[in-house]
Amino acid sequence: MTAPTPAVPWRALAAHPATVERYEAKVYRGPGPTSCHWWLGAISDSGHGKLRAGSRPAGTSRVVSAHVLGYAIHHGAAALQASAIVRHRCDEASCQNPEHWLIGDRLQNILDFQARRGLTGHPLADLRGAAGRAVAVRDAILAAAPGTEAEAIAAALAAGHPTGDRQDTLW
Ligand SMILES: [Zn+2]
Repeated sequence: MTAPTPAVPWRALAAHPATVERYEAKVYRGPGPTSCHWWLGAISDSGHGKLRAGSRPAGTSRVVSAHVLGYAIHHGAAALQASAIVRHRCDEASCQNPEHWLIGDRLQNILDFQARRGLTGHPLADLRGAAGRAVAVRDAILAAAPGTEAEAIAAALAAGHPTGDRQDTLW
């Protein structure tokens, strides 16, 4: 039997200046084809941003999902109960725009995925999967010449829909 995972101290992490600084340094808020704010750090298999948060001396050091930490930083930790998850209205797993997040549960996420993955040009229909898509956007931003980020992001997003189908952003 495995012991239950201890609750992540979101409140303490969101109040830790070095953690907030590390988080903010990895968020791209420049111009783009959508209003999403893209994660420039490590990306998980599910396409979510990851970073090390907290401090070892305080006993709070751990790797966390970037958007959940971002939610705690921007909206407070009160809503982050054990069974709650932070969902993306925009369906871009690596997005860090606080206005694109909402609290929900896993079942809602599964139902959304089933409902939207067949939509033409939708983020969830990307042939690379969520992680491949997030990595492509991140790498495109990091490689783009200054001033060309928006075009680089648009191209990286479009590459996941090789038939040329696309859907205008809902935002
Ligand atoms: Zn977004």
